[in-house]
Amino acid sequence: MALRKIRELGDEVLTKKCKEVTKMTLRTKILINDMLDTMYEAMGVGLAAPQVGILKRIVVIDVGDGPIILINPVIVEQSGEQTGEEGCLSVPGKAGVVTRPDHVKVKALNEEMEEIELEGEGLLARAFCHEIDHLEGKMYVELAEGGIHDVNYEEEE
Ligand code: ZN
Repeated sequence: MALRKIRELGDEVLTKKCKEVTKMTLRTKILINDMLDTMYEAMGVGLAAPQVGILKRIVVIDVGDGPIILINPVIVEQSGEQTGEEGCLSVPGKAGVVTRPDHVKVKALNEEMEEIELEGEGLLARAFCHEIDHLEGKMYVELAEGGIHDVNYEEEE
């Protein structure tokens, strides 16, 4: 298990556009495994490569149904609307209200560089949008209605 340092809001790497992955290498496989370890350790539901300082189009997500690995993901369909609290491992202790599509279809490559298509609703749709935004150098704080606020973890329990 290898943890990587999570970059935080204000770090320039989070504002940059990521490059497509053209082939699977050992280095990239290690990166993906480290991203999963880092996400689980931080108890997040998603992590994008720029959040660990790597400008590659790779995202990992787990909303409780097991790990999803997306390489070069693209949103191909979206519908509906959901408004709710959103947070980010790069903005610790904060949350904000963001409106996202409620249903999202994504095309991507898996770890074997095979084409996959996934559909998500609710939290998974939100995670797809949030993480894919990271690959474009975009953070949810720009979308948060009324800005971001402190999260009181004790109250949530
Ligand atoms: Zn994030």
